[in-house]
Amino acid sequence: MMALSRLSLKEKAYVGVAEQCTQCGKCSSGCPAARYLELRPRKIALMAQRDLVEELLGSDAIWMCTQCHQCMERCPREITPYDIVIYLQNLAVLKGYDYPRDLNMLYASIKRHGAIQLPQEIFDREFENYERSDLGLPDLEGPADMEGFLKGLTKVLEESRR
Ligand code: SF4
Ligand code: SF4
Repeated sequence: MMALSRLSLKEKAYVGVAEQCTQCGKCSSGCPAARYLELRPRKIALMAQRDLVEELLGSDAIWMCTQCHQCMERCPREITPYDIVIYLQNLAVLKGYDYPRDLNMLYASIKRHGAIQLPQEIFDREFENYERSDLGLPDLEGPADMEGFLKGLTKVLEESRR
């Protein structure tokens, strides 16, 4: 267990969003990942309230969030379990906890293409294939200034480590 008093101001700011939680459960009832989570958003907020940071860092639950923001939309206290989850993901990587290695592939793709994933063919219910152009959608291109994009990305990553 890591006491909040031992966390930096920035760390407290993230974990501190949990301090307003009334445990009403509205976030968990709207969370699309809830059925896959060993810890639901309400429980994550509760554990953050109780300083159970190390337990959260070691949980797979922090990597299952789909980042849909439903918990933020539903919370009557304007708390975002999503923010707690993202903070915990960052902290887990910085502290050397295990994390899904597929994330490395996503990062490599962002660095190479400026996007997590390149456009792909889709199937309809009859398993008919469609390209974007078949649907009247324009081609998707990466950032016009790739060098500037990568500089910005590096800056964001450096600032998130502070
Ligand atoms: S942002 Fe994450 S925790 Fe919040 S409702 Fe969506 S999946 Fe659940
Ligand atoms: S909806 Fe908000 S107040 Fe209610 S349990 Fe979730 S985080 Fe806490």
